[in-house]
Amino acid sequence: MVTIDPPTERRCERCGRVETWDEGTDAWVAVERDGDVLRGNPHCVHVWNITGSYNPIGNTS
Ligand SMILES: [Zn+2]
Repeated sequence: MVTIDPPTERRCERCGRVETWDEGTDAWVAVERDGDVLRGNPHCVHVWNITGSYNPIGNTS
């Protein structure tokens, strides 16, 4: 039995936006680091660095 934990942080490979998962609100929120909120480019079509490796269980019949 393999347990896969969902990622808790993701980063956009295009604009550098970094988000962390907020369990309280069930939403991704931008990370604040060194006093700056890493929002990246608001017009960016974000490409998250976790999408390629994170495969939720569900389609393995
Ligand atoms: Zn982006």
